[in-house]
Amino acid sequence: MPTSKCPECTEEIYVDADTEQGDKITCDECGSKLVVVGLDPIEVDIVEEAEIDDYAEKDDFESVDYEDDRY
Ligand SMILES: [Zn+2]
Repeated sequence: MPTSKCPECTEEIYVDADTEQGDKITCDECGSKLVVVGLDPIEVDIVEEAEIDDYAEKDDFESVDYEDDRY
């Protein structure tokens, strides 16, 4: 099983053999969310928490389309 080092706590982390670039893993030691940025050798980077669900929340502006005819 390929291993890499957690950039947060420098603990050795195990990566699945079929891991692909961009896969997200979690460090068993410190719980940091990591993303695989390289495969040969395995390289991981810390995922900033704020980036994770930045997409789904941006659809909320549509509700301005209310009926505004109060005669
Ligand atoms: Zn760690």
